[in-house]
Amino acid sequence: MNTEIVDIAGTQVEVHRKRIKNLHLGVYPPNGLVRVAAPAAMSLDAIKVAVLTRMAWVRRKQDQFARQDRETPRRYVSGETHYVFGRARRLTVVTSNRKSDRVELHGNDRILFHVPHESTVEQRRNWMNAWYRAELRRIAAPRIEKWSELMGVSPNSWGIRQMKTKWGSCNPVKKSVWLNLELSRKPFIAIDYVIVHEFAHFVSPRHDELFVSILDTYMPTWRQVRADLNALPFSEGLGTRCSGGRASSILVCPNPTQ
Ligand SMILES: [Zn+2]
Repeated sequence: MNTEIVDIAGTQVEVHRKRIKNLHLGVYPPNGLVRVAAPAAMSLDAIKVAVLTRMAWVRRKQDQFARQDRETPRRYVSGETHYVFGRARRLTVVTSNRKSDRVELHGNDRILFHVPHESTVEQRRNWMNAWYRAELRRIAAPRIEKWSELMGVSPNSWGIRQMKTKWGSCNPVKKSVWLNLELSRKPFIAIDYVIVHEFAHFVSPRHDELFVSILDTYMPTWRQVRADLNALPFSEGLGTRCSGGRASSILVCPNPTQ
């Protein structure tokens, strides 16, 4: 087998010549290595053209791997960075003989996590998520009230849950709203935006002109807020943005016209 490294549009590509009929192109984790298996007789120019025509796909795959790398799962050990309402905080884990856990914020950049000896990563994640959930409830409750008054809508219920692909959802018929637990890691303005977005769906279930005009009225900066929100990575195992929607579950979508 003959292998060479070729520069194609600024990307290093490993080209392997093999006794095969068709060209195979792959992008591999963790670093987004690009590898081509090409028929032995294929010219280098033909290989370059074949890769160039698939370059958009290659870049997309590389972006995916880069993003996964940034979002390595937290282990809840000292030294990790954890986000609380948009602020990065350095975690210090304090173990003790006490059976209960406790989270304390110190200053602007520290988070202290008191846990029992011999707790597992799983337990620490659950405790921390319970704390995040309570914090989000505390922060979101007055905002739900404020926006429902300002916008003249009356939600029957709202709640918090973990969602993999969307920041919020609502049911305009039941007048209920769900916020993604992950919003506890985002700036306050992002929480406001998701609430305003879902409440706007009580008036218009679609992302139509009426819907956009409601957002423009109550949060003129919503496009920037949404762009910032979707640019920030989810913390762990979550996608970065939302897509599409079912009739009863309206999503916060990256494009309001979709
Ligand atoms: Zn929506």
